[in-house]
Amino acid sequence: MYNSILVPIDISETELTHQVIPFVQAHAVMNTARVHFLTVIPSLPYYSTLGLAYSIEMPKMKEIQHAALSKLDELAKQFKLPSEKIQTHVATGSPKDQILKLADSINADLIIIASHRPDISTYLLGSNAAAVVRHARCPVLVVR
Ligand code: ADP
Repeated sequence: MYNSILVPIDISETELTHQVIPFVQAHAVMNTARVHFLTVIPSLPYYSTLGLAYSIEMPKMKEIQHAALSKLDELAKQFKLPSEKIQTHVATGSPKDQILKLADSINADLIIIASHRPDISTYLLGSNAAAVVRHARCPVLVVR
């Protein structure tokens, strides 16, 4: 039933949110779906709000993107899906905006997202997960 599944992954989390793995596997195996993994590198204004922009020399964005993609490729292996079924993507900007944008451009018919970082229990639904649930044009599976 599903052709295109989007799985956003925050690679800055110390550990992959493991509870999403069985859900992605189940939905990918039952279908001929292609699984798209996306990680978003928050854009520079985010760093400057932390006061980091002037104290740390930012490595070139290309290098950051390359490193992010390698890490995402590594994490994607943990899902144990056939390599021809998966595709990895890196974007820069606001995670929620980029997740919604890629969902449109790959014509996602399902988004599988963790509700929040496993170590942060203050919010039942993190801000990115909440925005995706609210604005996505396709079903969203929130894993908790
Ligand atoms: P929290 O604030 O607890 O981290 P979020 O809503 O940001 O909650 O995160 C929930 C999920 O949203 C993550 O598990 C991931 O699927 C997605 N997400 C968050 N940040 C990013 C990011 N930078 N790139 C890709 N996906 C992200």
